[in-house]
Amino acid sequence: MSATAELLLQTAQRGELHHAILCYGPNAATLREVALRIAKTLNCLNGTEGDDCTACRRIEQRMHPDVHFIEVTAERKMISVEQIREMVAAATLRPYEGRNKVFIIDPAHALSVGGSNSLLKTLEEPAGDTTFILLTRSPDLLLPTIRSRCQPVFIGGEVETNDALAASIVASLTRFSDDRDTAALLGIAALVAAQDDCSDAVALLGQVLCDAVAGRVPLSIDRDRLLAAADATTNAIRWLTVNADARMLVEQALAELVT
Ligand SMILES: [Zn+2]
Repeated sequence: MSATAELLLQTAQRGELHHAILCYGPNAATLREVALRIAKTLNCLNGTEGDDCTACRRIEQRMHPDVHFIEVTAERKMISVEQIREMVAAATLRPYEGRNKVFIIDPAHALSVGGSNSLLKTLEEPAGDTTFILLTRSPDLLLPTIRSRCQPVFIGGEVETNDALAASIVASLTRFSDDRDTAALLGIAALVAAQDDCSDAVALLGQVLCDAVAGRVPLSIDRDRLLAAADATTNAIRWLTVNADARMLVEQALAELVT
């Protein structure tokens, strides 16, 4: 656990934690671990930052009635208005057995605009025994109205890479570079859109394109076109937060490569 995370847990232990924490950093697993530790610290029966008391165990097993997870699934890649409405309703109730209700929104950049708007008022004036923990790769991916209501905390961690996906993207880009086969680009769009975390996959595509600009991936594609496509992936990530179609966005970004 990083020094920042330890500090966060100590603040939680003193009962002085901000009611809405925005944990951000490059490693989703690390962010989740910190969120769980905060939930444990706020509810541990022994007053620790996480041990094997029944409350901590049930939080670990996701069976604690006061610790809620608002997440995406393989089929549903955005956090919907309905999920947030349920959460807002649960936030008005007293805790069932713990000291604190904890709502973990993971990843917060998957909040739809409607979901974000439904959340605003609750984020502003929650009940005293309620803590929201938002997890994201980057605060820039959240709407400013959400961001401004949270205390941002950077949580370090290893940068995640999806080597298999990166290799597939490079292989398809090479095929396009060699044969000007635009079907290869459509293939990339389909592949990226099928990933569990689309915005992570689009970010990875952007990274590969930047590597190509820097000459680290040898492609015979004009540098300006590579740059334009890389820029377009950055915009695509923003559009994904408003429920835009991932496949279409990536197709449009990669169209920048075609003369
Ligand atoms: Zn405990």
